[in-house]
Amino acid sequence: MPKLTVKDLNPRGKRVLVRVDYNVPMEERNGQMLINDATRIEATLPTLRLLIGQGARIILTAHLGRPKGQREPSMSLQPVAVKLGELLSHPVAFVDDCIGEKVEQAVANLQDGQILLLENVRYYNEEEANDPAFAEKLARLADIYVNDAFGAAHRAHASTEGVARIIAKRGGQCAAGLLMELELKFLGEELQSPSKPFVVILGGAKVSDKINVIDRLLEKADTILIGGAMAYTFKLAQGFKIGKSLVEPDRVDIANAALEKAKKRGVQFVLPTDNVVAQPVKTDKLNKKGKPVIELHNPRINSEPNIPDNEEGVDIGPATAKTYSEILLSAKTILWNGPMGIFEDPRFAEGTFSVAKAVVDATQKNGAVSIIGGGDSVKALNKAGLGDKVTFMSTGGGASLEFLEGKVLPGVAALSEK
Ligand code: AMP
Repeated sequence: MPKLTVKDLNPRGKRVLVRVDYNVPMEERNGQMLINDATRIEATLPTLRLLIGQGARIILTAHLGRPKGQREPSMSLQPVAVKLGELLSHPVAFVDDCIGEKVEQAVANLQDGQILLLENVRYYNEEEANDPAFAEKLARLADIYVNDAFGAAHRAHASTEGVARIIAKRGGQCAAGLLMELELKFLGEELQSPSKPFVVILGGAKVSDKINVIDRLLEKADTILIGGAMAYTFKLAQGFKIGKSLVEPDRVDIANAALEKAKKRGVQFVLPTDNVVAQPVKTDKLNKKGKPVIELHNPRINSEPNIPDNEEGVDIGPATAKTYSEILLSAKTILWNGPMGIFEDPRFAEGTFSVAKAVVDATQKNGAVSIIGGGDSVKALNKAGLGDKVTFMSTGGGASLEFLEGKVLPGVAALSEK
C-alpha cells in the first residue's frame, strides 16, 4: 500500500512535527561552526515550502553527529536554523532543547506558517534507544507527523519511529515528506518492474556490504556490471591472482554463489577485463586513525587477467570502461551504487567518471531512467559536475542499501497508509 504523503494532508493551523536529515558536514572557523555543504538542508525546502503555504505550524526535529547523549556545543543545530532561514527567505526560530516545558511553550507560540527548529535530538540517549517516554514527550508537541529524513529511516529511533507510532495510535496522520516520497518512488516502485533492459552497476569497497543487494537484484536485472575493490573478491573466486588488491578472501563463497545464481537466472554478470594498478608503498606518515599512510606509486594499465604480487587494482581499465559504457547505452533502467575505483584520487577516477558519463548519456539521449543509490556514487557524479543530469540521486547511504536489499525501513513502516 502506498504511504500517505504531505500532499494528502490538510495541516492549516495544525502542529506538524517534521523529521528532517540535517546531519550536515560542519567545520570550526574562528570559534564558529560553519556548514560546509547545505545539500541536505536544500533537499527539505520543497516539503517546507508546501507546509508553509498550507499554513501549518512547523516543528523540525533532526540529529547532528554523534553527541552520545551529551550537550556537545559543536553539534548544535543552531547554525542550521540560520542557514535554513536564509535558504527559505523565511524566519526560522530555534529552541535549545527538543523536549520539555521550554519547547512546549515555543510550540504554543507558533502561528500558522511559522517554523521552529528543535535542538539536536541526539543530545538525549533516549533518542537512539527509542525510549517510549521520550517519544511521548516529542509526540506531545504535534498533531501530525511528517518524515522527510530518508537517510535516517533505517533506524528505529524515537524521532524516526517511536513518535510516529504514538501519534498514529491517537489518530494523528503520519506522512512521507516530498523527498521521502521520491526515494520510495525511485528506489522502491520504479525498481519493482523496471523497463528493460535493466542494468545495475555495483562498485565500492566490499562485497560483504552489498551482497544482499546483489542477491536481490539478481532477481530483477538483465545485466550486473561490477567494479571497485569488490571485483577482486569475484576475481579471486574465479581463480585469478589479485596481487595486493583490497579483497575479502572469506567472502569467496558468497561471490561464487552470486556467480552461480546469475548463470542460473540468465543474468549477464560482468567483471572487469583490465584495470589500473599501482604499487602500494608504506610511508612514515600517520593518518587520522594513527595508521601508516600508504602511497600508491607507478600507476599503469594492466590488461592481463592476473595482477602481479607487488601491485594492487585501483580502478577499472579503459577497455572495461568502454564495455560498461556500451552496455549502459542500451539500458532503459539503470541503478548505480559504488565507485569503480579509488575515485578520490584523480589518477584513479577515470573509470568512475566514464561510467558517470555513460549513465548521463543513456538518460539524456536514450530516455533511460537512471537511479543513483546514494553514498559515494552521488559524490562522484557531483564531482564530475553531472549531478543534475540523472533521473534521481538518493540522499541515503545505509538507508538506500537496506531499502534496495528489500528490508522494511522502520521509519517508513511507521507512516500511515493512504
Ligand atoms: P562503498 O562505500 O562501499 O561504496 O565504497 C566506496 C569506497 O570504495 C571509496 O572510498 C573508494 O575509494 C573505495 N574503492 C573503490 N575501488 C577501490 C579499489 N579498487 N581499492 C580500494 N578501494 C576502492
